[in-house]
Amino acid sequence: MKPLPVDASRLQQQIDALAAISEAPAPVVTRVLFSEADLKARAFIKQLCQQAGLSLREDAVGNLFARWSGKDSKLTPVATGSHIDAIPNAGRYDGVVGVLGALEAIRALKQSGFEPNRSIELIIFTAEEPTRFGLGCLGSRLMSGALSLEKAAALRDPDGQTLDYWRGKARFNTQELKSVQLLKDCYSAFIELHIEQGPLLENEKIPIGVVEKIAAPSTLRVQLIGVGGHAGAVLMPDRHDALLAGAEIALAVEQAALTTGSPDTVGTTGVFRIEPGAVNSVPCRAWLEIDLRDTQLPTRAAALKRIEAAIPVVCKRRGIDFQIERLNVDAPATCDPRLVNTVADVCRELGLPVKKMISRAYHDSLFMAQICPTMMIFIPCRGGVSHRPDEYSSPQQIRDGVTVLAHTLAKLAA
Ligand SMILES: [Zn+2]
Repeated sequence: MKPLPVDASRLQQQIDALAAISEAPAPVVTRVLFSEADLKARAFIKQLCQQAGLSLREDAVGNLFARWSGKDSKLTPVATGSHIDAIPNAGRYDGVVGVLGALEAIRALKQSGFEPNRSIELIIFTAEEPTRFGLGCLGSRLMSGALSLEKAAALRDPDGQTLDYWRGKARFNTQELKSVQLLKDCYSAFIELHIEQGPLLENEKIPIGVVEKIAAPSTLRVQLIGVGGHAGAVLMPDRHDALLAGAEIALAVEQAALTTGSPDTVGTTGVFRIEPGAVNSVPCRAWLEIDLRDTQLPTRAAALKRIEAAIPVVCKRRGIDFQIERLNVDAPATCDPRLVNTVADVCRELGLPVKKMISRAYHDSLFMAQICPTMMIFIPCRGGVSHRPDEYSSPQQIRDGVTVLAHTLAKLAA
């Protein structure tokens, strides 16, 4: 395989320059959707894409498309990309490696004299992180049609402002929001390069992770209404304690996750609030939020059903009123086996060991998988740390990922 002129130091300089565009002082990176830092970061990326000779398009929610036109305009393009927004107090690599790294891959291919048959398109997704509206993957959800226009219109930020307000402020409102949705199979493939955000590659000293499945959560909110009273005066047989019902439900979540037969099912009751919250008062209300994840929809759906069936049984026995709300039910994704093999072949030809793995976090790829064949390439990050200022991947680790991405794009676009 012909070596490509991937310039790791130029790429690192650009990663560092982008990290300096932040709402908080270094080493912290914070870029909330449509904040001044987010808009400046977009301008920085656009400038780099133009310098690389790519043609730019922005859609009505600010997803940015930078295209290297192929020789045959009738062929559907190959896409790659990720995000540059960052949650408060984040680091400089999450998402960015898949954007600036993909741009470096394109520059290296251009420099090597490669001419694509299919166009290659770099996508910078709007708001992969749930900043501002509390909903992750806003841009790719809209592109795939997974987020309806009604639900998008109902989004509110902490100040009560709408998505339309912010689209207007960022000047993305010249087109209607519905124009964001893409047709199925408008890309022949989508490949996302990303840091692992877990420790497996580093622990096993493997440079490349080939992602076969992307797990996805479904989230439940449960409200329990019992009867409060004095902790001394209300005798045990007369109690309708909302906390104890919640405790039984949390245990039912654990049981449901443990008994699907799949090691990939995980269930967490991460929020458990009670009222009134006084030591001498029987809890009269409780709120639980339950996160259930899996790589397969059938096992996750079965566990979800079991949890939803346990709640009325517990509540009836304890005399508690309840409400269940499904906050989200995103489907897990299976990466395209042909793309998985293509990337594995590239790594073999480059002499880079690979680990086939599951993405336990979700990414824009989860939604891209709904419209085109999709897969992800992971690189190691130190200690598996992410969403923190000390997030780190070395220039060499990033170079390996970019090299694999570049050769993969070349194969897919040839
Ligand atoms: Zn990310």
